[in-house]
Amino acid sequence: MSKTPILAIRHLNKKIGKREILKDISFECYPGEVFGFLGPNGAGKTTIVKLLCRLYDPSEGEILLNGINIQKYDYAEYTSIFSVVFQDFALFSYPMDENVAGASAPNAKRIASVLQRLDIWERIKSFTDQEHSLLFTDYANGVNVSGGEAQKLAIARALYKDAPFVILDEPTAALDPLSEAEIYEHFDMLVQGKTTLYISHRMSSCNFCDRIIVMEPGEVEEEGTTDT
Ligand code: ADP
Ligand code: MG
Repeated sequence: MSKTPILAIRHLNKKIGKREILKDISFECYPGEVFGFLGPNGAGKTTIVKLLCRLYDPSEGEILLNGINIQKYDYAEYTSIFSVVFQDFALFSYPMDENVAGASAPNAKRIASVLQRLDIWERIKSFTDQEHSLLFTDYANGVNVSGGEAQKLAIARALYKDAPFVILDEPTAALDPLSEAEIYEHFDMLVQGKTTLYISHRMSSCNFCDRIIVMEPGEVEEEGTTDT
């Protein structure tokens, strides 16, 4: 693993209104590592993701990408390096392949590849209109999917984007234990060597991470490597 961090978070503070949500957060991400972020609900994990994606600006401190403050980069160029699955992701009443491809026109091969990697391809092929099936039943002929399937589609969208840095904010929260175990088992294949920030409130979910930061509300409690 390279010793030069791709991302360096330095003494980050975030206040929302009068409330200090994050206090003096510092950590680094290295190219190619799967970095775990563990902490209870309300600890500030999603707030860190929003700061990384420039949805918020820090109140104090800075985030550096390759040594340069992220606010100095062109916004679109900067955000293009991240594939993010937010906890409260949204799917739309569009065909499934368009949900996965996002703003771009769906590439059939890539759609099949990511949906196969998530082990949801067979299921989608069983629908009458297959991957072109309209999601939800707001309109005629749509299909409804389970919470776990919806979560897999959201992960598929992030993988389809194929950005070098993947952020998964509690990506298995809506999955049943079996699907969750399945995702973990194939995690390396899923992220394929990309730098990955994996966020969870469950210690057992971080076993496959190279390194873990443990947060308590608003602060970093400890940092360490996993023994695998
Ligand atoms: P986590 O993702 O670790 O569960 P969050 O980053 O979502 O935690 O939230 C951290 C704390 O900040 C929580 O106490 C939450 O209520 C608060 N918080 C988050 N977003 C806002 C906001 N927009 N306004 C006020 N408080 C917020
Ligand atoms: Mg959260």
